[in-house]
Amino acid sequence: MWALMCTALSTAAQTKHFDTPFNWIGQAKQLATSDTIAAKAAIESAVKAGLFDVSAISAKSLSGIVKGDFGHRMASEISSNREKLQDPETLEISTGDIDRFWTVFDQGTKEAEDWFSRYVAQGSKGLRTFFDVRMRSSTSRLAEAVVAKKDFYASIRKPSLEIKALRPEFVKAAKKLEAIYPEAIFPPVYFFIGSLNNVGTPDGFAGMLIGTEHLCRTRETDLGPLSDFEKSIVFDKNLIVPIVVHEYVHMQQKNVPEATLLDFAIMEGAADFIAFLITGRHTNPEVFAYGSANEAEVWRKFNSQMDGDNLDEWLFNSKDERTGMPANMAYFVGFRICEAYYAKAPDKQLAVRELLEIQDFRKILKRSGYSGQTSR
Ligand SMILES: [Zn+2]
Repeated sequence: MWALMCTALSTAAQTKHFDTPFNWIGQAKQLATSDTIAAKAAIESAVKAGLFDVSAISAKSLSGIVKGDFGHRMASEISSNREKLQDPETLEISTGDIDRFWTVFDQGTKEAEDWFSRYVAQGSKGLRTFFDVRMRSSTSRLAEAVVAKKDFYASIRKPSLEIKALRPEFVKAAKKLEAIYPEAIFPPVYFFIGSLNNVGTPDGFAGMLIGTEHLCRTRETDLGPLSDFEKSIVFDKNLIVPIVVHEYVHMQQKNVPEATLLDFAIMEGAADFIAFLITGRHTNPEVFAYGSANEAEVWRKFNSQMDGDNLDEWLFNSKDERTGMPANMAYFVGFRICEAYYAKAPDKQLAVRELLEIQDFRKILKRSGYSGQTSR
């Protein structure tokens, strides 16, 4: 009986809707055609929960509700939420989920329900959002990963706990971003630990969501329990700052949607190049070293494919063992295009804005003049 009740309770908890902008917007969309009063209340709850992105309420499915006085009021409350994020000094770097992860880990927690109630349900707004946007609203995969890869997790505890000390570096980077792009906003950065399924995402309207387990590799890291692909997405701890800044730059981008390989390369390259302007560091030194040494060849190959939409040899791939070309070379090509564009631009601040608000990817390439030459 007790066990039955516990199951019933935990099932109820698993399906509970968190008080996050993402969840409220989802509910509003579901209710939009059946119950407009409840749909409006859900939108108000999203705004009250801190929604700072007006695009969240401009979806077609909400257009029947978000209009007139109500629409104006919501838009103005969203922009006042946004104004609260304009000061890089007050940037929130949230690391409480990492501490809680280790507490739950040390309890020897194996059941998905327990990971839900002890870790996610008590977590930050970022972790609760991540649960819905990247964990398929389930802790099963996390619970399995923690058991199957226990030694890997245990080996990244120390570096993961050192992240909170990096706050001054992130604030410094945010200030630099504001200096080169005054339109920037500074939503919270949430560091938590997941199941190696996502390095970083701005999805879910909460802030930057970071899977810290991807960013803690040191000499002590036990990669034994990981697959080859997982090994390739566990990055050196020293790259945390440039990688997080790269992700943070993505959050500022207001491009037209990408369609071709060239578009994706420039979109990623812009994030990498601006992160480089801010931190003076590359997010992926191996890709950059290979690209610099083989630039003409890489460009020739890229140039022949760039107008198509096949990304297989360039992004989210793995190293080509035949040629030795590392994964994700599109980052390098995109970086070079953006670097050349910036070097040529008479007004640097304008160039940064143009690289973050791209209306025409082809035009960026054309105006960069880049054609595979090293710039120095
Ligand atoms: Zn990226």
